[in-house]
Amino acid sequence: MTTSTGTATLSLQARAETIDRMARSDYDVLVIGGGVTGAGAALDAASRGLSVALVEMRDWAAGTSSRSGKLIHGGLRYLEQFNFRLVREALHERSLMLEKLCPHLVKPIQFVYPLRHRVWERAYVGAGLLLYDTLGGAGAVPRHRHLTRRAVRSLSPGIKLDLVGALTFYDAQVDDSRHTLELVRTAASRGADVLSAVKVVGLVKQHGVVTGVRLHDLEADRAFEVTARQVINATGVWSDQIQAMAGGRPMFHVQASKGVHILVPRTKIDSAVSMFVRAEDSVLFVRTWGRHWLIGTTDTAWDEGLDHPAATSADVDYLLRNLNRVLEVELTRDDIAGVFAGLRPLVKGSAGTTSKLSREHAVESPVPGFTSIVGGKYTTYRVMAKDVVDRAVKGLDRPVAPSDTENIPLLGAVGLENARQSFSRSGAARGLTQPQIERLLGRYGSLVADLDDLMARRPDLAKPIGGAADYLRVEPVYAATHEGALHLDDVLTRRTHIAIEAEDHGRTAAAEVAALMAPELGWDESRVAEEVAHYRARAEAELAAQQMPDDESAMRVRNAVRDVRLMVADRSQ
Ligand SMILES: Cc1cc2nc3c(=O)[nH]c(=O)nc-3n(C[C@H](O)[C@H](O)[C@H](O)COP(=O)(O)OP(=O)(O)OC[C@H]3O[C@@H](n4cnc5c(N)ncnc54)[C@H](O)[C@@H]3O)c2cc1C
Repeated sequence: MTTSTGTATLSLQARAETIDRMARSDYDVLVIGGGVTGAGAALDAASRGLSVALVEMRDWAAGTSSRSGKLIHGGLRYLEQFNFRLVREALHERSLMLEKLCPHLVKPIQFVYPLRHRVWERAYVGAGLLLYDTLGGAGAVPRHRHLTRRAVRSLSPGIKLDLVGALTFYDAQVDDSRHTLELVRTAASRGADVLSAVKVVGLVKQHGVVTGVRLHDLEADRAFEVTARQVINATGVWSDQIQAMAGGRPMFHVQASKGVHILVPRTKIDSAVSMFVRAEDSVLFVRTWGRHWLIGTTDTAWDEGLDHPAATSADVDYLLRNLNRVLEVELTRDDIAGVFAGLRPLVKGSAGTTSKLSREHAVESPVPGFTSIVGGKYTTYRVMAKDVVDRAVKGLDRPVAPSDTENIPLLGAVGLENARQSFSRSGAARGLTQPQIERLLGRYGSLVADLDDLMARRPDLAKPIGGAADYLRVEPVYAATHEGALHLDDVLTRRTHIAIEAEDHGRTAAAEVAALMAPELGWDESRVAEEVAHYRARAEAELAAQQMPDDESAMRVRNAVRDVRLMVADRSQ
């Protein structure tokens, strides 16, 4: 098998070349923020024929876009708020992703919606799901169905039997950090210059017009400037910080709201399908995630630092309490394998609680040469990207083609069927099992051909990683050579999910993964030791934070370990 991902190969050498090019170029559009919104905007702009740069201060998707609920959905609860436009738009995006843009990464997922009250609840929920099916259009996922008490019993024996019945419906699920990364690489394949680990520390302005950004390269601890005719601020919960650099009088601000998820092993809940559970003041999704259940979320206002939000014991207790209301066999803290927290970037409104703030997005240009986008949700990233680029290009002095991202499959979706057939044969010849082959196809799509080439040259890479048997040794190597991973944490947390899936949170796998990355990134022994020690300290700090009662104390514990990207600057002082 062979593929050519060309400019989408995010190697160390490509990074150095990109920095050189960026310092010399004058871009049409520079996008700040390598989450799903910024990556989507970079792809949107590049595919319109514009010259584009995308910069990210940490790793691709290191902000909210690796910490979401991982659902590509219309949002049933927005139906209850009569927000039909948002639901219809999101369901259209769901169909596009499932059928055209990235079918390898987005998969349908079946939910059971348990009912506790006779007649009225079935009628109410049934009507909502009928509308959900209708708004979503036909075909992308099966339609909802009613279930009797006995049918629920056989599908989900783990659900408590004080239920009167259930309905079942479908939504979709995505590996968010891999999806965002693939968007970045697709943008690069369309000519965008993409660079991570560079922080925007200031905006360049001439006569009140934004004309570029000042960057701090955190890997080399040096500064440089990049010029652009239009700068887009797609920094999620950080947007107010960039906005403040631009000045002007913005109408919108962002309010962060924390959401926590837990993972428990699949064996702990006896159910063949995922569940939609009403919680005290919201809803919980209990969905399958590989060998685990992924359960969440909470929704609480957040006023602490933005870089490393931590879960508290109160967050975990809330999830367990609400989940246990519908389970035959109650779960305890000992059943939890992993925990992660993320911050929703909500458009600030006047309502009191953040769950009532808008999930819609807002775009504005308070200063010439500068456009900001805030709010939105993962599912609607493509629409957000189109809207912000439409606004930014109004400031260019030439006509620009309309957005065409509706017709642009991501890299791994191109040639997917051929890759499936070819890798089924070559993977088996390398000794991979059918589930391993399927798993790789689901994570990389047709890009699996790159990994196949690596395994052909080094058969040892086709073996599982010790302490994280669901992942193969080839994956950290590929992450370092093609996917822009610069640190051990990038691989254990976002290229793979070993950090939240492995029983020991990746402490065993860390040494082997670092050793695999080392030759590709030019690490010597002391650098390997430093990366492993940092990763283990970070994992310990997160576990300790989860024992703390409130956000303030949890953050004090979590922040004892600084971001891995600051190690370089620390070393040079
Ligand atoms: C708990 C939770 C569950 C969710 N569940 C879902 C769901 O199931 N489905 C759904 O559709 N949506 C969901 N969402 C919403 C969705 O995850 C977010 O809307 C989306 O990920 C936001 O992406 P973003 O690109 O705007 O922000 P981010 O992903 O946060 O990206 C912003 C980026 O900007 C970078 N940045 C910041 N400052 C600078 C700077 N100075 N220089 C350079 N870079 C900078 C950051 O490092 C960051 O990577 C959920 C959110 C949360 C928190």
